[in-house]
Amino acid sequence: MSRPTSSVRKNREVTILSYEGHDISQFRDSLESAAILYGLEPNFASDAFITSDISELEKQRNQRDAVKVIMYAKNTLKSSDENPRYSLVVTRHDLFMNKMHFVFGLANREMGIGILSTSRLTLRDENVTPSQIKERIFKEAAHEIGHLGGLAHCENRTCIMAFSNTLEEVDQKLPLLCDDCKRKLRIEGR
Ligand SMILES: [Zn+2]
Ligand SMILES: [Zn+2]
Repeated sequence: MSRPTSSVRKNREVTILSYEGHDISQFRDSLESAAILYGLEPNFASDAFITSDISELEKQRNQRDAVKVIMYAKNTLKSSDENPRYSLVVTRHDLFMNKMHFVFGLANREMGIGILSTSRLTLRDENVTPSQIKERIFKEAAHEIGHLGGLAHCENRTCIMAFSNTLEEVDQKLPLLCDDCKRKLRIEGR
């Protein structure tokens, strides 16, 4: 039984947890900043994690099914005492979804659960610097949390809510929401 004060607090909370217990502490700053962008309180749950059964297809593709992991996360979170408004699961596995070859992340607004893959965002080709990688993680984590808050994809290519199909498109975005999305968020949030 949670006391009123605690449920008020949790109502503004984003629980950030890992898939299969991988160490996500190296991304902590970026992930927490993504929650703070929306005025939400990050709860970095370093000891909690989500697991799922792994299908033959997932093994073959060396990827995880984003929709399936979100379902598993829902069941795990439902059976725990925690009742965060939003949860973000972070995995080092590459993700796919339905017919899409890969996705950086996915969010299910109804369930309040998003998933983010650091697999491609951390690729160290070209002259990628650690701060660029941090920024990529921040932008795509903030993108998924934006969906949880009710934002759809944005046409503005520099906005965090623009859909990214490539790393170049991630890098093209500014670490910000455009004014349009900020306004929509104010309407959705009330
Ligand atoms: Zn999206
Ligand atoms: Zn926008």
